Parts: sequence; C-alpha cells; structure tokens
Amino acid sequence: MAKPKVASDWLAGCAGCHMSLLDIDERIAQLVELVDLRATPITDLKEPDKDGVTVGILEGGINNTYNEEVAKKMRSRCKILVALGDCAVFGGVPAMRNFFTLEDSLNRAYIETPSTDASGKVPSSPELAVPTRVRAIHEVVPVDVFIPGCPPDADIIFFALSELAQGRIPKLEHKNLMWN
Ligand code: SF4
Repeated sequence: MAKPKVASDWLAGCAGCHMSLLDIDERIAQLVELVDLRATPITDLKEPDKDGVTVGILEGGINNTYNEEVAKKMRSRCKILVALGDCAVFGGVPAMRNFFTLEDSLNRAYIETPSTDASGKVPSSPELAVPTRVRAIHEVVPVDVFIPGCPPDADIIFFALSELAQGRIPKLEHKNLMWN
C-alpha cells in the first residue's frame, strides 16, 4: 500500500515548530518508513503535490496575503490539515502585532529599532504581499488537528504524525500535552 503523503509549510512564525519536528532525531527514520515526506521547508519540493497529499501541516499564523494563498493552497490539496504550534493554533507571538496599527508596527520594525540606521524605510513594492491582521489558521481555512505548544514538544509531534500516518486522528489529551 502506498505510504500517506505529508507536506508542510511555514507562515508567520519563527521556524521553531519545524525545528522541534527535527528534534525527533533518529525517529525521523521511523517516520519516513511510514510516510512519503513531500514538499516542506526542509526538502527540495516547495509546493504540495497538485494531485494532493494526505496530511498538510502549517506552522505560523496568517500575517499577509501571501500567507493566505499558501494556507488556501495547502487546504485545497490535503485531506487532513494540521495547525502546528501556538502561532498556527491561535496566532501566538505574531498576533501581538494586532494590538497596534499596521503603520506603527512597520515603523517600529523598519525605522525606530536601535539596530536600524537613520535611512531606514518601510519596504514598498507591488510585488510584496499585503500585510493583514494576524490570524490563526482556522480563521482562514478549516483545520482538522490542532497541536499547541511553542514549540510543541518533539515527542508530541512524533506521536501525532505516527497516528496520522496510520490513518488515525491523534488524541492530544491533557496528559499527552504534558510530555517532556
Ligand atoms: S509556536 Fe513558537 S516555535 Fe512555533 S513558530 Fe510560533 S513562536 Fe515559533
């Protein structure tokens, strides 16, 4: 039987959730026995297969129009969508930007920080994605599995992916989320 295909991508986050996935260490060999790892930020393929994947995983919140496109494409190409980490589950750290105006946030990031030189300016180009309010993944597309944590523990990620690979929706009960 063909192995289930798994794809992932990262949006408005820090890449820490994918680093936690890599923290499963040698168990990644067990995982690739169970699944066909397709497009991810840590493989060469950059888009989920056009004919679809079984599991799509998104890290990070939705911060701009490009993030929206990526999330919608992943949703349309996967059977089960996983929101990985606090940013994906409820907006997390990037959603702190929602307490400020976009103009204030951009000025702070590109002009006012101590590390920015006096000629700092906010980038502007029609090619750049348009910033939006920061949203959790489920505010833009339906999500099937939520894995909270910042980042989620590697053991939890391994458990969830192993369950998904064997056709089961992982039960992330309180006792599971207490793993360390
Ligand atoms: S949940 Fe934490 S580790 Fe994951 S992307 Fe967000 S800030 Fe980074």
